[in-house]
Parts: sequence; structure tokens; C-alpha cells
Amino acid sequence: MAERVDAKTILIGLMADPIRHSSSPTMHNEAYAKLGLNYVQMAFEVDNSNLKDAVNAIRTLGMRGSNISMPNKTEILQYLDELSPAAKLCGAVNTVVNDNGHLTGHNTDGLGFMAALKDNNIDVIGKKMTIVGAGGAATAIQIQAALDGVKEISIFNIKDASWERAITNAEKINNNTECTAHVYDLADLAKLKEEIADSYLFVNATGVGMKPLEGQTYIPDASYLRPDLIVVDVIYAPRETALLKMAKEVGCKTMNGLGMMLFQGDAAVQLYTGKAMPIPYMKEILD
Ligand code: NAD
Repeated sequence: MAERVDAKTILIGLMADPIRHSSSPTMHNEAYAKLGLNYVQMAFEVDNSNLKDAVNAIRTLGMRGSNISMPNKTEILQYLDELSPAAKLCGAVNTVVNDNGHLTGHNTDGLGFMAALKDNNIDVIGKKMTIVGAGGAATAIQIQAALDGVKEISIFNIKDASWERAITNAEKINNNTECTAHVYDLADLAKLKEEIADSYLFVNATGVGMKPLEGQTYIPDASYLRPDLIVVDVIYAPRETALLKMAKEVGCKTMNGLGMMLFQGDAAVQLYTGKAMPIPYMKEILD
């Protein structure tokens, strides 16, 4: 750090609470060091009570921007000057870029998901995907996929607090993009099987498969899958969820959430610096 930080170092924040567990600063600072860029990312404990002051500090201190995480992803919208199309449709921001005091909010989670698919030679553009979940990660994926040209999205969710968000996401997609979205209750397993059957891609974007639901999946058995279906889980701890294990046994091509995590960071670094993360090097570090 002493070799890297000097009077010209450009500061990027990470504003969330809790935040001391995050591996984001390690990932970003490793990337800046490898790229030889004089940037540093620092984590700040910021919640909704001090968010306004913290956002003003981005301008006051001439920071290049900040990553934003919970509980600030939606609350921050009111303090920004502009939103990217994805951030606007998601109603959530995870990256703020400061251009001479003008703050633009972006959402790179969906960008990261789409870039990870591309990195794995998975091309869902013009095709149908079925996705379970309507929380933060699922919303970003659904909106970006629709903006990028996915033809049809079937969204399944349980009837919990995220159910209404599933309905809203589908409305936004149907009203603002060329994509067609439908919403179904995850309790209707016959419908789930039917929708997966003519999908190119199936995505789990819920926490089912990670602690405290590790080892679990809502897919009752392997008859829901087929060898030419591509199965993605946004979970990266564990690297192989019960869903991915079942999919591999069937012969499906699979992808876990590590790539999404890496490429959402890459998208943020590109917005801040104009340079891409050193992806092969970052993959080594994260593995
Ligand atoms: P969230 O709390 O916003 O949403 C949770 C979703 O899971 C909701 O749709 C909810 O209805 C659903 N759900 C909860 N319990 C369920 C159950 N028992 N059965 C079926 N559905 C259930 O969470 P989030 O931030 O969207 O995160 C969801 C998952 O995505 C987590 O596993 C998280 O680790 C992962 N994630 C990965 C990345 C990445 O970069 N790979 C980024 C963000 C989140």
C-alpha cells in the first residue's frame, strides 16, 4: 500500500453497513495494483442515516465514485444526478461515477451476469430464459437481460415479500423493452417444468443452495432438466450448489456465481477508469 498510495491517488469508496466482511476492496485493489493504476478503494460504514452526507463527500473530496451496497442501493437514488437505463429500471444502484461533481448511478450486477455468460460462450440473446427469484440479484439480471435482447423471460417466485417485485419487474420489462416477461408462483411445479422445457437457460437467483439453505434446491428431481439446457446459479459459496450438482449429473452445461461477481466488479472498474480488470489474474485470485 505504501508503494501505491501517494498525493495523486484517486479514491473510490465502498459504502455499506455492515461492510467489514467484504472482499470487494481486496478484489478492486488487486486489480488497480496489477493494472498499475493509481486508484484505491476504501470501505466506509454508511447506512441510510449518513448516506446523504457520504454522497456529498464524493463531490466534496473529488472521489472518482463509490460502490454501493446494502442498505443503500435504493435509498441513494434520490441523491444522484443521473441514472443508467438499467439502474433506472431496477430502481437500484451499486456503482456511482463522479464526473466533475455530476453523479451517475449504475447497476453492474446485471452487466456482470451477462458478461459472465459471454465469458462462458453462452449466448442467450434472442432466446428464452427461466429464472427463479425477484430480489436484488434477480431484478438486475432480468432487467439487463431484457435490455440486452433476451426474447422471453419466465420469472418464478414464492409468495413472499419479493412476489410484488416479480410482478413489477415483468411490467417494467414488458413496457420498456422488446422482451416478454411472465410471472408464476414457484409452488406451481408443473408450470416450472413446462417453462424450463422450452428454455435455453435456467437461472437460480435466490439464496436456496447457500447457507442456511445449503444442500437444498426447489427442483424436485432431474426430470426437470435436460442435457442441452444451460443451468446457472448466482451463488458462489459453495461453488457447486445442489442444483448445479444435479444439472451436471444430467449433462447440462453449468455456471456458478463467481463470474457474475467478477464481471460486475470489472464493469465498475471500467466505468471508473476506462480500463478492464485483468480477468485471468483475478480468476486466479478468486478461485
Ligand atoms: P434478496 O433477499 O434480495 O432476494 C432473495 C430471493 O430469494 C427472493 O426472490 C426470495 O423470494 C427468494 N427466496 C428466499 N427464500 C426462498 C425459498 N425458501 N425458496 C425459494 N425462493 C426463496 O437477495 P439477493 O441479494 O437477490 O441475493 C440472492 C442470491 O444471489 C444470494 O444467494 C446471493 O448470494 C446471490 N448474489 C450473487 C451475486 C453474484 O455476483 N454472483 C450478486 C448478488 C447476489
